[in-house]
Amino acid sequence: MEKDRYDDQQHFWCPMLGQPMTFAYCRKMREGKPCHRVVACFSPHFDVEAYLKEQYGEEEVKQILAPASGRMEKIMDTLAGETGKKGD
Ligand code: SF4
Repeated sequence: MEKDRYDDQQHFWCPMLGQPMTFAYCRKMREGKPCHRVVACFSPHFDVEAYLKEQYGEEEVKQILAPASGRMEKIMDTLAGETGKKGD
């Protein structure tokens, strides 16, 4: 299956960048690999987990979805979590 077939799917609001974002960006934003939040953001739009397993395999998907490890990523995750809570 084509890697870019969901590229036009748009998430209404990226909690890290503060703007709408298409899957075209999110699937390769970390040195060519997907954002670790991609399942949370794009599950309402299509079966992201199936897509990731198809493209990367189970082990690599675990690494892709692992919690943030860098300082800046942790800060962004915290901010994203706070933004999500406000929207509840
Ligand atoms: S997957 Fe990552 S980059 Fe894309 S909208 Fe969600 S938080 Fe933003």
